[in-house]
Amino acid sequence: MKRALIGLLLWAASCWAAGPVYVVLWFDTEDYVEPAADDAALRIAKDLTAEGVRATFKVVGEKARVLESRGRRDVIAALSQHAIGYHSNWHSVHPTPAEYLLRFGFVDGAAEFERREAGGVADVKRVFGRQPVCYGQPGSSWAPQAAPALRRLGIQVYLDEGDQVGIDNQPFWYGGLLHVYNMGKNQFRAQLNAGAEDTAANRRFDETALHLEAAGGGLISIYYHPTEFVTTEFWDAVNFSHGANPERADWHTPRRRTPEESERCYGVLRRFVQHMKARPGVRFVTAEDLRTLYAEPAPKALDPRAVAERLSRGIGFGDVGGAMLSPAEMLTALLEGKPRMVDGPSAAGRTTYARETIPAAAFARAVADTRDFVRRFDRLPDQVFVGAESLSLADFAATLAGSIGHAEDVRLVRGNVEFTRYFATDGRRSFNWVIHPEGFDGGPLLDLARLQGWTLKPARLAGK
Ligand SMILES: [Zn+2]
Repeated sequence: MKRALIGLLLWAASCWAAGPVYVVLWFDTEDYVEPAADDAALRIAKDLTAEGVRATFKVVGEKARVLESRGRRDVIAALSQHAIGYHSNWHSVHPTPAEYLLRFGFVDGAAEFERREAGGVADVKRVFGRQPVCYGQPGSSWAPQAAPALRRLGIQVYLDEGDQVGIDNQPFWYGGLLHVYNMGKNQFRAQLNAGAEDTAANRRFDETALHLEAAGGGLISIYYHPTEFVTTEFWDAVNFSHGANPERADWHTPRRRTPEESERCYGVLRRFVQHMKARPGVRFVTAEDLRTLYAEPAPKALDPRAVAERLSRGIGFGDVGGAMLSPAEMLTALLEGKPRMVDGPSAAGRTTYARETIPAAAFARAVADTRDFVRRFDRLPDQVFVGAESLSLADFAATLAGSIGHAEDVRLVRGNVEFTRYFATDGRRSFNWVIHPEGFDGGPLLDLARLQGWTLKPARLAGK
């Protein structure tokens, strides 16, 4: 009796403490070759609306244009019941984003991404009558230069999967965008080819939800492509594999599922959604909702000594006075008084300054010059000059942090960058995609990406 009572109390306590579990369900709506994929998108959007679930449809620019030219107002209207995202202008027509951005630096690459993608964003916006709320790259064609361009295009959420960057299988901030990416064990799906229902996926969902509830709440990411429900091979793999770039007249349609098979696939998704929906405390959210759920508190002035103390322990994200800050925000807090999102450096600078101390007046000029650079470009400099010599950004940040509260000459401190471990290192594996040319190596993109680690930090559920 006593044991049962204790068990009941423990159970009640766990219910009371259970954190919310959010599910973001998204569909890469990309197949502009096979018209049956239009019907698949229509059917899925309607089924989900009937279940009272809102999903996110990330639409390719050319897909929006063909929906319009094929007169599919029905599809556009059904998808419009959900959140609309953006999934690149041409998806798999070469060059894909990683293919061309590999040849660019950070600043010029962002301009090039904007040049190539702005038309697609505008078309999705025109066709659906609203601004797309998120972006995700085609396949593994990821690149760090997309982030500043997406901000300029009015897109604030990055929703996709890949392993180039990530923090502990949960949402994070990177390049000023809220990322749901690299979600690891919190990303899975019901397999479409598992029969009438994927009961293993149901179990996995229950276990994951239990785990997240115990951890105070979290997010599960689930994705499909509407075209998968009507085809047995990918529309782009049959046309654009390994760098192939045939003319439109030579595009082939992918092999189709039978109508009975498609019906079974819709059933798998519907049952999976019904299973998830039935769990108390589970809420389906869109990319739009994520912005509110993970909204940042307004930046406030911070004690420079507290910021300096954190930065002196290592250059990485961390909690300062209750605020989760990226290293770039810590540095702007020291330079400008308040933390502010600015881009990381565009290249790896180096330290040529050889002495152990810097005269206070010379360092004060270097700090003022850095402040001016950051204000002018909204970006951290690659290096900071002390006369004709330079300090790498990391060494400058550590030296600045060490100088807070000291009026005399400044001791040169070597910066210890902690954030590199959140980035992939194998440029072939991370960019492995059947559409990329054989042996494609995105290593240089990972090098650029790591520099933007200055902007990296975990996203926190608002109010937590
Ligand atoms: Zn895609």
